[in-house]
Amino acid sequence: MKLSFEPHTLYFIHPFRIAHGVRSSTPVVITRIGCEGITGYGEASMPPYLGESHESVMAFLKKTAAYLETLSTPGDISTILETIDAMAPGNTAAKASIDIALHDLYGKLEGKPCWKMFGAEKEQTPFTTFTLGIDEPVMLKQKIAEAEAFRVLKVKLNGIDDRQMIDTIRSVTDKPIAVDVNQGWKTKEQALEMIGWLQEKNVLFVEQAMPKDDIDAANWLYERSPLPLYADESVQRLSDIAKLKDCYHGINIKLMKCTGLHEANEMIKLARTLKLKVLIGCMSETSCAVSAAAQLTPFADHADLDGPLLIKNDLFKGIGFIKGKITLNELPGIGVVPNGLAKGAV
Ligand code: MG
Repeated sequence: MKLSFEPHTLYFIHPFRIAHGVRSSTPVVITRIGCEGITGYGEASMPPYLGESHESVMAFLKKTAAYLETLSTPGDISTILETIDAMAPGNTAAKASIDIALHDLYGKLEGKPCWKMFGAEKEQTPFTTFTLGIDEPVMLKQKIAEAEAFRVLKVKLNGIDDRQMIDTIRSVTDKPIAVDVNQGWKTKEQALEMIGWLQEKNVLFVEQAMPKDDIDAANWLYERSPLPLYADESVQRLSDIAKLKDCYHGINIKLMKCTGLHEANEMIKLARTLKLKVLIGCMSETSCAVSAAAQLTPFADHADLDGPLLIKNDLFKGIGFIKGKITLNELPGIGVVPNGLAKGAV
């Protein structure tokens, strides 16, 4: 049966609260690949630092349409994805949207959830962190109260208000914290001093402490840090991992960086071989891309998949969270159904 590549939809997702430094809305592109009346859904989210836009995603999808429509199913998904990857460099979110839609479609055609197709155990999912952005103490305390159901908090630091942020959190809760610096510390000495201070504050790990291309500083810090260090911006694809093994204790894998589930699964396997820990994260995304990423979380040490919890117009119903633990469902594919909000859009 031939595949059909249906029109792509641009949609804007809106955060519940527009915090300091957060965009008021995020464009996402919803992709559909059909076969025998069954539709597989995919999603591209385009954070500015990866260099993709709505226009570039649409242009790339247009380029792939002719190829996808020559295919019959069931075909070899890895060969299809390799062919698409070779069509142009970059475009990782656009590629991820095709990868997600194909996995969703294949799962539906086989009547199996993707986690089962990957050989995962549904019960082995980790707890997701709940993200607290940089904010004033009063607002921060309010957000912590709202995050009551979540066991692990994720805190974004910027190298300026860091101690105040952590002290404010610690004045109201002793929950474990994952810290994301987003390349915000300027020198390795400043980073080491802060990590030493954070070690006393029940912090689990520190993500992207140094600028992404400063391998020497990352290695220096790795040799000395009392807390585990995770790479986010420093690692995008499978080929980035090996060179980072003496710079980080773990990696943050995101579908939008690595072109989707197929490569993410390969990255997890390589990370395990190199004794690196695995965190699975997301961008500003709906339950479509996040439920896709969640299919692999039984293989991960940590997850940061709170994307759908931070937006008020989610387009899909997908994975759930029970006291913060990711709960996969038995639906075939990536486990999503379009919700009422999405009628007419997806
Ligand atoms: Mg990060």
